[in-house]
Amino acid sequence: MKAKTMTGGEIHLGQDLADNLKTRLRGKVLIPGDVGYDESRTVWNAMINRKPALVARCLGADDVIACVRFAREQNLLLCIKGGGHNIAGHATQDGALMLDMSLMRGVWVDTQRRVAHAQAGCLLGDVDRETQVYGLAAVLGFVSQTGIAGLTLGGGFGYLTRRWGWTTDNVVGMDVVTADARVVRANSEENADLFWGLRGGGGNFGVVTNIDYALYRVGPEVVGGVVAWPASEAPGVLELYRTLAEKAPHELTLVALMRPAPPAPWLPKDMHGKPIVAILACYSGNSDEGEKIVAPIKSFGKPIGDTLVRRPFTQLQALLDATQPTGRRYYWKSEYLPRIDPRLCEKFIEHAERIQSPHSAVVLFQIDGALNKLAREHSPVGNRDARYVLNVTSSWEQEDQDRANIEWAREAWKEMKPFSTGGTYLNFLTEDEGPERMEAALGKALSRLAELKAQWDPENVFRTNRNIKPASDSAEVQTSRFSASA
Ligand SMILES: Cc1cc2nc3c(=O)[nH]c(=O)nc-3n(C[C@H](O)[C@H](O)[C@H](O)COP(=O)(O)OP(=O)(O)OC[C@H]3O[C@@H](n4cnc5c(N)ncnc54)[C@H](O)[C@@H]3O)c2cc1C
Repeated sequence: MKAKTMTGGEIHLGQDLADNLKTRLRGKVLIPGDVGYDESRTVWNAMINRKPALVARCLGADDVIACVRFAREQNLLLCIKGGGHNIAGHATQDGALMLDMSLMRGVWVDTQRRVAHAQAGCLLGDVDRETQVYGLAAVLGFVSQTGIAGLTLGGGFGYLTRRWGWTTDNVVGMDVVTADARVVRANSEENADLFWGLRGGGGNFGVVTNIDYALYRVGPEVVGGVVAWPASEAPGVLELYRTLAEKAPHELTLVALMRPAPPAPWLPKDMHGKPIVAILACYSGNSDEGEKIVAPIKSFGKPIGDTLVRRPFTQLQALLDATQPTGRRYYWKSEYLPRIDPRLCEKFIEHAERIQSPHSAVVLFQIDGALNKLAREHSPVGNRDARYVLNVTSSWEQEDQDRANIEWAREAWKEMKPFSTGGTYLNFLTEDEGPERMEAALGKALSRLAELKAQWDPENVFRTNRNIKPASDSAEVQTSRFSASA
């Protein structure tokens, strides 16, 4: 079979070598045609359709070590799949040895130290379920099927971010298999430099096998859900959003969005497919207090649907899952915002009106609070001036609709970009976004990250990511079919 080298060349990989890898692992090794191969290689974004030469379904750190060693010996391109939810699809590469981490999903909760030890193949929902058993929660994201590894290594934000900061601000340690196939501990005392780099620098420094999260008392009940109105109400609803968000306590997180109404049972049938505006809210403090605080949202105008109620935290964490299924085509554009400017709201409405697909949306996430209080250099995720995230999320079914949907997203982004802090979220970058966008995401941290890369991965073994290259490296991994006018 054909395989890719780390430096961009092609080699023949004989069956004997695949068999050799099999003898070194507890987990299975799959090649094209094997049962499970297609499931492993598939990622969330159907725009990305690649075929690794080998898939190793790792069962533990020892399998990961064996794979890194094998890839080094054979000069094989290596890629790592966590939850497979990265929009840019870095988890899969043609001809690579893919480490599929999806069988490493154990979670252990230390209630005394209030720390969750989570294996790196966990999805967010795995951690939520196990921690909520004890009325505890980690700071994770909005969709329960997202992988913890990619989310955490690139930053991470969700309903609890306003109280406790980026996900990665709340990591207390990680175990990492490094480029020289050693497992090392990274925390504030051991390998503190590596620990710094891991918290926002993407998967550049090794294969993370375990992440330890600080936990907080949350739930099991919160006040959360969505209220929706016809898009004609958007000016008033967005003004309500802006004013409520400005004075909201950190227990409250508000998200505003506009899109065609999905065919959801809580929305009237005659509204399905018609444009709506909605506010998604979560109050994670005392529920009596929460009900009072969200009352102005529920009583505003004449909503066409309202699911903003007391509910289990784990349920809220999965509320958006159905809107983001694996297998659609996706293209995003994103910026951090310092505030909600009324003129931005006008552009938001204007571009929502031009949406090309029933699945696309424009979204504003509120994230201000704890993350703004830490020093910029606390970790590479930085962006300590970010108070909102704007995400233009284009989502459609057919390949022949690519151009229209991508162009819509680019145009909407171009017109709303002037309201940005100048920063953007590493984890929301599409595959056609280049070095200048990485600079926007990581800013001044980039030079320190490059030094760390030279120290921990001088040969750039871990390159199938938002790659921070050591200076000597020039090899390319697969890039976009959509490189024009990103
Ligand atoms: C539907 C959806 C909802 C989202 N919601 C949020 C949200 O609410 N908040 C938020 O912050 N982000 C969100 N994101 C963005 C998300 O954080 C990124 O897509 C993230 O990369 C997903 O992680 P993953 O493990 O699923 O990705 P993958 O595609 O598996 O991996 C992403 C990158 O991480 C690397 N990687 C994966 N595992 C490891 C590992 N063990 N060691 C080293 N490197 C590794 C991969 O090589 C790849 O480069 C969302 C994404 C989607 C698609």
